[in-house]
Amino acid sequence: MKLHMQILIALGLGIKRNWHIFTGIILGIAVGIFLHSHEYPLVSTLLTFIGQIFIRLIQMVVIPLVVSSIIIGITSVGDNKQLGKFGTKMVLYYGIITTVAVVIGAGLALLFKPGVGAAGYIAQNTASEVQASVATAMAQQQGNILNIFLGFIPSNPIHSVAAGDMVPIIVFVVIFALALAKVGDVNRPIVSFFESVFAATMKITDWIMYVAAPGVFALTASAVSSFGIDIFTSISKYLVVLFIGFMLQLCVVYPLFLKFFSKVNIVMLYSAIAEAMMVAFGTASSSATLPLTVACCEKRGISHKIANFVLPLGATLNMDGTALLQTVAVIFLAQAYGVAITPFLLIQICVLAMIASSTCAGIPGAGLITIALILNGMGLSPEQLIAGFAFLFAIERVTDMMRTLVNVTSDAVVTAAIADNENEINYDLLNNPAAYEDIA
Ligand code: ASP
Repeated sequence: MKLHMQILIALGLGIKRNWHIFTGIILGIAVGIFLHSHEYPLVSTLLTFIGQIFIRLIQMVVIPLVVSSIIIGITSVGDNKQLGKFGTKMVLYYGIITTVAVVIGAGLALLFKPGVGAAGYIAQNTASEVQASVATAMAQQQGNILNIFLGFIPSNPIHSVAAGDMVPIIVFVVIFALALAKVGDVNRPIVSFFESVFAATMKITDWIMYVAAPGVFALTASAVSSFGIDIFTSISKYLVVLFIGFMLQLCVVYPLFLKFFSKVNIVMLYSAIAEAMMVAFGTASSSATLPLTVACCEKRGISHKIANFVLPLGATLNMDGTALLQTVAVIFLAQAYGVAITPFLLIQICVLAMIASSTCAGIPGAGLITIALILNGMGLSPEQLIAGFAFLFAIERVTDMMRTLVNVTSDAVVTAAIADNENEINYDLLNNPAAYEDIA
């Protein structure tokens, strides 16, 4: 089947699969418009309550999910010299692609200023409060930048877990996982334990997704009811900025990256992984797509050894599409709340977006939750920005589908580059789509 047909089908499947969430958004808009011109305080309170339940349920699973996925990812590498070499290259390549993504995100957001149009919808006292919190946090941090880095090392990891401080948690978990990988087979009980934790939290996430439609409905309805339909006009600029950013990654950055670091032809690679790209779009989950990404790469010329090492880690740690979105979203919120974006704040947002995206699990919606980490670094709590969050949640599913497609594509791009460098690609197969085996 021709590639463009496959992409059209994917669009259809993606929407069909997620139709109930789209219905939630549409109904939410309709109910919100009605409530905007009619006073029903009880209904409004109820909607806010339901939306909050949804947000809190997702927040609930973040820590177990992040901890278990990092431990499984790192220990699966083992303690082999060759894997160490692949690992270094993988971190470097994933790092390059994610850095470019946040720079593109920041550049576009500063250029098009998507948040400025939304400023009129933010209550003046909320805006002043947010501005003050950021100013205090920035003053403290700028005064002693070394303390920020010191704060990344947890003196008491349990305390960090209890306080929900993601960066120190991740620092500890990465060191712990590296040690587990080093000690060999004796690590089995702990790794199996975290495999169970991962499976169970994925299950809980599945369950939470059942309430995604009412949750999104409630969030959309309360956003629209308090601001009216005009808010979507200001959001549309945000969507356009994101779309341009994702397109730049797919059509400019990845081709240049492959040209620079390998002999892989981008069109051939995209046709090899077309099914994985479609499923990524439909499921909005890198983890759910992983088996297919591995199958596409392996059956179409990339060695089993490279595909099975680089792709699983990428599905958890490499989220350049998410990093791009998080950068744009936070700058959008800062612009909407009238927070001055100083160079220091901008660098902080970009660095935290790189960390926050790689701490996010490859499941639907995770990227919008780890944004809390960036806000936390700016001295803000998600509650303070709940209005902004509601807007972002209202269109969350659409942006999630787009960023997941980008995330999965870049996993395959990096895998192909490493396979090329290590002579682990069968080019006769990769460059001959007619010979591709079907993937069920
Ligand atoms: N859904 C994304 C993924 O699985 C993660 C995110 O929410 O950004 O890749």
